[in-house]
Amino acid sequence: MTRISDLLAAGRTRSLEFFPPRTEDAEAQLRRALTDLADLDTSFASVTYGALGSTRSRTRDLVVQLNAEHSYPTMAHLTCVGHSRQQIQRLLDDYAASGVRNILALGGDPPDDGDDTGDFTYAHELVGLIRDHPGGFCVGVAAHPEVHPRSPDRASDRRHLADKLREADFAVTQFFFRVEEYERLIEELAALGATKPVIPGVMPFVSVPGLRRMSAMNGTAIPPELERRLEGAADADVAEIGIATATELCEGLLAAGAPGLHLYTLNRSTSVRRIWEALGPTA
Ligand code: FAD
Repeated sequence: MTRISDLLAAGRTRSLEFFPPRTEDAEAQLRRALTDLADLDTSFASVTYGALGSTRSRTRDLVVQLNAEHSYPTMAHLTCVGHSRQQIQRLLDDYAASGVRNILALGGDPPDDGDDTGDFTYAHELVGLIRDHPGGFCVGVAAHPEVHPRSPDRASDRRHLADKLREADFAVTQFFFRVEEYERLIEELAALGATKPVIPGVMPFVSVPGLRRMSAMNGTAIPPELERRLEGAADADVAEIGIATATELCEGLLAAGAPGLHLYTLNRSTSVRRIWEALGPTA
């Protein structure tokens, strides 16, 4: 199974993020998207992990299935808060035995009542556990260009991220809308001696309520110029604005030297195809 670090060493990557469906209709939508996207030049895919392990077996099953069905590798997202070391160890053993070699090591969000956070507090503890596992995993971590919403200040956010990134192989970012956010993140990490590849995450939004909900949850600012484009836009036009916005952002990120592009697909294919086609072949 190919390691994502090897793909990044060989050139720019283009990757797609999916989530495990909860219903039969959602399953059918994911299958349609995967079929529609099958002929694209995809470097790797990833599958999210529900908060506090709520999709543990569905994530695992989808990751193993995609790895078997596609020539590109699929990375498993894994959060550690709310888990015991034994639970994580078992899942890592299972992934290793199933031939999965790429894991995105995440802290995850603590339970609303703050109780029972398990044996872990931060993602870097999970990175350490994965590194100690004999499975030889390639390890990615999350980065937040606009600073993690729980961080008390920018400086500590960057310090913790730089420490985490030095132990990992690469990072993937939260979605954002301005190239400058990415450039600033890379400069700040480099100043702290963290120079591993950071792949920007780009979200082609399809609805205004969805965009607002996810932006509020992740601390992503919606720039005034985007607000103006969305003002009064008919529902049917919002996905088009999402495609145009994501394409412009991707072009800017490539010009800024990003080592790859990671699209949050929302388990849909139309926007992804349009963006990749507008960008042309992977350079
Ligand atoms: P951490 O790196 O642990 O950071 C969390 C906070 O703690 C930050 O404020 C950080 O500055 C601070 N911190 C870190 N280390 C220390 C330390 N040693 N001392 C003090 N403070 C510290 N969530 C899911 O539930 N499932 C998913 O599949 C998922 N996929 C994601 C994919 C990407 C690309 C991204 C960017 C996020 C994803 N998330 C997912 C969201 C993520 O779980 C949340 O952002 C979570 O709140 C923090 O995760 P983290 O890995 O960034 O945590």
